[in-house]
Amino acid sequence: MEKYDIAIIGGGSAGLSAGIYASRGGLKTVIFEKALVGGQIVLTTEVENYPGFEESLSGFELIEKMKQQALKFGTEIREENVKALSMEGLCKIIETDESIYRAKTVVFAAGAHPRKLNVPGEDKFTGRGVSYCATCDGALYRNKIVAVIGGGDSAVEEAMFLTRFAQRVYIIHRRDQLRAVHAIQQRAKKNDKIQFVFDTVVQEINGDNQVESLTLFNRKTNTTSTIEVNGIFIYVGIIPNNELVESRVELDSQGFIKTDEEMHTNIPGFYAAGDIRSKSLRQVVTATNDGAIAAFNAEKWIEVNADKMDTL
Ligand code: NAP
Repeated sequence: MEKYDIAIIGGGSAGLSAGIYASRGGLKTVIFEKALVGGQIVLTTEVENYPGFEESLSGFELIEKMKQQALKFGTEIREENVKALSMEGLCKIIETDESIYRAKTVVFAAGAHPRKLNVPGEDKFTGRGVSYCATCDGALYRNKIVAVIGGGDSAVEEAMFLTRFAQRVYIIHRRDQLRAVHAIQQRAKKNDKIQFVFDTVVQEINGDNQVESLTLFNRKTNTTSTIEVNGIFIYVGIIPNNELVESRVELDSQGFIKTDEEMHTNIPGFYAAGDIRSKSLRQVVTATNDGAIAAFNAEKWIEVNADKMDTL
């Protein structure tokens, strides 16, 4: 059985940062990633606020740099799906679809995934007009009309990106005020391709083979209307990928993992980092911060428990 000092589950920005710190610190380090490294940030078209890059770069470019940095210091990246995790003992067992591994500590950085709207038509038209990724699908809507659902940073930023292609972008939000930070709101309000539709929810996504229209419900006037759109981009928040651990780790009311300031969970030697963690600001910079702190403290935890672990 392959043994590691630290196993990191999830190869997004938090996991890669933990990998950089752990392997640079001399720990035998592995990252398990079930798909391609990157996490949610690769869905982001432009990262403008990660310190050190005054020219914005794509989420994909930023992740590629982190990945190369982690590999340079000796992090192993295994593209394997983790299907079971035993983390209660001093020694952690990680079972993937391909093999079983042992590690002295685990950093859980499995991230989050987009929340669905759960309205009729959403599943039927996913990939045929319903999308959760403007970066991936935006270019398909040149001179078309699209709607973005949500009022957070993601919805507003991605709506602005979509104006590069679409002739009109509706931002449909359930309240009369956006949640997005002020600076992002201001830029969107100056963009004349964007039209805000407030106090409104989507009731149904309609079409034959492709999305053709949305049935909307105005919560203030209690009226229903239909708008014609060719595509709908859903940005209504994120759900933590906590399935592997949810019954055993302490979670907040939304299902995000609680940690202390050292990124330690309630389980000894088990750390959490990035979007999966309960916190107020989910950004690449806070994910990389979490990863660094988790790796640093995991290393200290190994040192403190070294005599008990030597035989593992
Ligand atoms: P978010 O901040 O949680 O916003 C979700 C939005 O969707 C809210 O406006 C919410 O409405 C709305 N919503 C939720 N459920 C809904 C439903 N069932 N029907 C209709 N609307 C619904 O999510 P996010 O924008 O994806 O951002 C996630 C995290 O990433 C945040 O921490 C954000 O700051 C961060 N982020 C940062 C940047 C950046 O700084 N450049 C970019 C992207 C994301 P209410 O407002 O009424 O609750």
